[in-house]
Amino acid sequence: MKDMKKYAVIVIDMLNDFVTGPIASPRVNHIIEPIKKLCEKARAEGIPVIYANDCHTPDIDKEFKVWGPHAVEGTKGAEIIDELKPAKGDYIIPKKTYSGFYETTLELVLRELGVDTVVITGWQADCCCRHTSADAFFRGFNIIVPRETTDTDTEEGYTGGLAYIEKIYGATICSVNDLF
Ligand code: ZN
Repeated sequence: MKDMKKYAVIVIDMLNDFVTGPIASPRVNHIIEPIKKLCEKARAEGIPVIYANDCHTPDIDKEFKVWGPHAVEGTKGAEIIDELKPAKGDYIIPKKTYSGFYETTLELVLRELGVDTVVITGWQADCCCRHTSADAFFRGFNIIVPRETTDTDTEEGYTGGLAYIEKIYGATICSVNDLF
């Protein structure tokens, strides 16, 4: 295993609305098990697991113009799916935009944990994972994306999203087995 003392795993938007709700895609299902495996291994190694979850304000949220209402604060749709329920000691960061960093406490939590490398997983490769990667890059974090722990609505979106994150933010694209 590599030196992973300064790593954190970030799980983005694995919420009911994205998996079984109004904006679910059949392509999300196959990333659940790899994320679960990654989180379990991370916890066993003492690597923090941080959920960055959409938590939208009813009615007024700007994202609804693009996606329609989803992951509304306080609803079942905004809850993490049962398969990936957080464990004791995990962190949960609510967010209102695509990026896990924008107007949230994610950076503060990462700094307090001494993290220098974020392992970005979840939904969607070409949207929330991409925007979170951008903000991680701007803040000087190294980025790793295990390719089987993210996807999006289309194959082109997936391959394009990962290629963009790799090229523009210098991310390492690997598999879960490469990490552990
Ligand atoms: Zn959203």
